[in-house]
This record gives sequence, structure tokens and C-alpha cells, in this order.
Amino acid sequence: AAMLLAGALLIALTACGGNGGGGSASSGEKGTVGIAMPTKSSERWVNDGNNMVKEFESLGYGTDLQYGEDVVENQVSQIENMITKGVKILVIASIDGAALTDVLQKAHDQGIKVIAYDRLIMNSEYVDYYATFDNFKVGVQQASYIEDKLRLKDGKGPFNIELFGGSPDDNNAYFFFDGAMSVLKPYIDSGKLVVRSNQTTMEQVATLRWDGATAQARMDNLLSAHYATENVDAVLSPYDGISIGILSSLKGVGYGSGDKPLPIVTGQDAELASIKSILAGEQTQTVFKDTRELAKKAVGMARSVLEGTEAEVNDTETYDNGVKVVPSYLLEPKSVDKDNVESLLVDSGYYTKEDLGL
Ligand code: BGC
Repeated sequence: AAMLLAGALLIALTACGGNGGGGSASSGEKGTVGIAMPTKSSERWVNDGNNMVKEFESLGYGTDLQYGEDVVENQVSQIENMITKGVKILVIASIDGAALTDVLQKAHDQGIKVIAYDRLIMNSEYVDYYATFDNFKVGVQQASYIEDKLRLKDGKGPFNIELFGGSPDDNNAYFFFDGAMSVLKPYIDSGKLVVRSNQTTMEQVATLRWDGATAQARMDNLLSAHYATENVDAVLSPYDGISIGILSSLKGVGYGSGDKPLPIVTGQDAELASIKSILAGEQTQTVFKDTRELAKKAVGMARSVLEGTEAEVNDTETYDNGVKVVPSYLLEPKSVDKDNVESLLVDSGYYTKEDLGL
């Protein structure tokens, strides 16, 4: 047993030292699972990774967990390493969903199956399953929140709104945006919502790599070009990191003080900084996607594949990656604002009261 332990320790140490970037590895009697995550810069992915490691370990698998830090080539070589090491299966949240076709071919050649985690992997037939949230619904929830708070259904308006999209290399970004526009577009068409910049297509509003600083710079430009004499009343933001950037920009020109209230600003992921911002009355809304549930689903899928059985899915129509429709399991996102932070996030144990300073 001591030998085994020493062996495991050695493997763990080599893996940490050898991959050049905050990865971690453990061994298990059933072999190793490769987990490739996009970045540690957003805490959701850190939670996703840790939650999966826990789940896989409880089933007797070791894990090789790597973060690509939003550099596509890093992620590709991390996955190549996993294939070389002979992992039993790969679970991947891609950085660029269309950049993994070749490496998945290699995985397939080695008989390694692939689960797409949260983000769909495009242009490959070797994606076995997809575990995610209902991404269209995420966008609907963000936009419906704006619709409710501005009382658009009661005929109020016109209001000024600006739109932000996620990363154009992430399939999810289109689902979020399309979901949101399914609610907002009728009001834009009728003039109850006015986009003073006129930037209303995904191409115009996308934010490469979901980068908060990029969003902040775009918001600075929008405010100086189009809001010298008018206030912005709402901002559709697809992700908390982007929302925080947008809020810095707004505060920089005086929103949130005097007679310039902050606009409604949506978000996604219920990240700690954004929940605190919501409690402080700055960001208005976010979408909670329970990473514990997603990790369980993905690990359950992997387990089915490894045991040679079919995984449970609840959607076999929506997620066409260009080559095949990937059988998917969609979890339910939940809209959060200051009124339900406690019931959704504290009662479920996602955060403690201390985490939130309550
Ligand atoms: C995820 C979101 C996340 C975004 C940025 C998307 O693919 O679904 O939860 O906010 O990436 O990390």
C-alpha cells in the first residue's frame, strides 16, 4: 500500500510539474479520466473541474484536470497529452469549439470517447454526448428580466438598451443571444426599446473570449458615442465577467450616483463578485447554473460510456455540431436577483452566508 501511495504521489507530482500551468492529477484503480477546462480566470470553471474530480474519484477513477487559460493551442496540446497518456475518456469544455476536430480524430483512433461539457464541440463526429444547460433559456431569462423590470408588457417605454454577446467561437453564445432576442426583438421593432448604437447583430455585439476588459472598452465607446445627452436604461450582458466590465465603464461616467441610476445589467454564472455586486445594488441579475449538477450529469454520462451502456439524455434535436446532432442532457438555468439570492444560492449550499457577507 505504501508503494502504491508513493506511486500515486509521484504521478501527481510529475503531472503538476510537467504540464506548465496549474493542472492537477490523481490516480485511481479504474484508470484516469482526462478533463480539459477553458480557464481558471472564471470561478465557475474552477468549480466545474473540482466537482468532476470529486465525482470521478468517488467512482474509483483518477483524473487529469487541465486548464487551457483561453489559449486554444494550450488546450489542444493538453488533450493530446491526455490521449498519449491513455486516458479512458475525455470530458472537454472547449475554448474554441471548432478547433478540436483533429485532436478528436486522434482520440477516436485510440478508442477514447468524448463528452462535451457545457459547450458543444463543433465539426466532429466523435462527440458522444453533450451535458449542458438549456442555453436558449438562459438568454430568455436574461431578456425576460429586463422585460419585467421595465414593465414592457404594460406598454411602458421607450427605453434605451445596449446589447452584449459572448464569444463568437463558443456555440453557446449564439444560443444565449438568440434566446434573448426572441424576447427583445419585438420591443426593438416597435420602438419601445431603442438601441442607440444600432448594434443589434451577434457579429456586432460579440465579446471575444468573454473578456471583461474588452466589454468595458466597448461600453466606454458606446457611452461616449451615443449617450452624451441620454441615459442607458438596460444592458443585456451574457456573463458576469462581462457585466462587471460594463458596470466599471458605467460608474466611470457617473452612473450610480446623483440623478443617474445604474441601468439594469444582466449576467450569468452567479459568480461571487457578481452576487456581491447584486447585493450592493449594482449588477441587477444573473443566471444560476448549478455546476454541481452539471458535473454529476457529465460524470454519469462518462460512467455509462465506460460501462458500455447508454447515457440518459433529454434532447436529441437541438445541438447540431455541423456533422451530427449530439445527444444532450439539458439542465435548468435559474434567474437570480437580490430577492432570491438567499433561497437559490444559500439554501442550496452553493454559497454560505459568510461567502456573501450576509
Ligand atoms: C458558459 C457560460 C459562461 C461563458 C463564459 C459559456 O460557454 O455556458 O456559463 O458564462 O461560457 O465562461
